[in-house]
Amino acid sequence: MPPEAGVPTNHLTRRSFLEAALGALGAAALKAVSRASGAVRRRSAPAAGDTENNMPSPPAEQEFFESRKHLIDHYRAHPRSMPLEAATPAELKSWAALARAKFVQLTGLDRMTPAPANPRWTGAVDCGQHVRERWLIDTEADVTMPFYLLRPKGLGGRGPAVICCHGHGAGKDAIAGVGDDPEVAQAAASYNYAYGVQFARAGMLAICPDARGFGERREADARKSPAQSSCGYLQMVSLPMGISVVGTHAFDLVRLVDHLRARDDVLADRIGCVGFSGGGWQALAAGIAEERLACLVISGYIHPIAAPLLFNKHMCACNMVPHLWEHFEMGDLAALIAPRPLLIQTGDSDPLSGPGGVGDVQGQVDIARQAYRVLGREDRLVFDVIHGGHRWDATKPVPWVKRCLSA
Ligand SMILES: [Zn+2]
Repeated sequence: MPPEAGVPTNHLTRRSFLEAALGALGAAALKAVSRASGAVRRRSAPAAGDTENNMPSPPAEQEFFESRKHLIDHYRAHPRSMPLEAATPAELKSWAALARAKFVQLTGLDRMTPAPANPRWTGAVDCGQHVRERWLIDTEADVTMPFYLLRPKGLGGRGPAVICCHGHGAGKDAIAGVGDDPEVAQAAASYNYAYGVQFARAGMLAICPDARGFGERREADARKSPAQSSCGYLQMVSLPMGISVVGTHAFDLVRLVDHLRARDDVLADRIGCVGFSGGGWQALAAGIAEERLACLVISGYIHPIAAPLLFNKHMCACNMVPHLWEHFEMGDLAALIAPRPLLIQTGDSDPLSGPGGVGDVQGQVDIARQAYRVLGREDRLVFDVIHGGHRWDATKPVPWVKRCLSA
């Protein structure tokens, strides 16, 4: 076959020719140029002619040409455009209005249309200290959100409600203590994940929904195991329409708040929201979109926003929102919760925090704290560092939420 148009000569052949022409020094210079251009030499392929003198060939090496360093440089060369810099309550108010509007636009929250909730009770199970009810509500046209409502047996009349967002895994079952599936039970045990049950035992209505793409809301091709999810697929087909998965999660949680406020067993102004790991992202997004959420707990999720890039940390694509990193740090987003009570929890050896560990999380908490300081409500921002890795710890959050929802 003829060579591609515009490619004058084979790269390796040309390189061998130049090395021969330039001698050893030139070859070293070529290597230096190669390094400077970002090439990562794992193993270099033998150039044509290397075996001319019948010397044994060295092990074949292969060059890789990575893009991550370039992306890090790009990220660092373009500081976020909407950092929290307010020094007075008035400045904070105007920044927060712009920042919230930007978040709503970027996540696609402004592209969603509410449907009547049409709540349906579908059954109840006696779990000893509480009853686990299953409910359905509609959020958008043809979109239904199932949730468990854990009702403490001693609770009469209206009570405070805590929305318990599940993380990136098996959905609401683990949060609500439904451990029929061994995989779900294992996740619940390793992350201390059944916080719905913990809040119900503390006397609050615990609301445990499935987020789109998880649990009972998985699409048809992700149902082999309860731990599978459709979030990646939904993200792929939503982003081209300007809709992000986390935007849909937040939208559904807003609709859930609307429903809870309309019920006769919920104190309308005492609805909190908590989440661990991916559930922390749901809670944060919902807290920004829904100012009627009275308090929030975000566990195992606050870290530098570009951590997947900067620290080479894998996260599912459903954590991403187009253009978000251009405008905000995670601490800026957390600041949008102010002045409502916010508890940020992290494990002192959580590998997902970043290489700086707690220090990486502290930097984000410090950004958010500025908003609480400006408003004179630093007491409402709690940073709870627990001993351990990526896991939920109920010790502080459960009594703290109970206090917040009793005030
Ligand atoms: Zn995902």
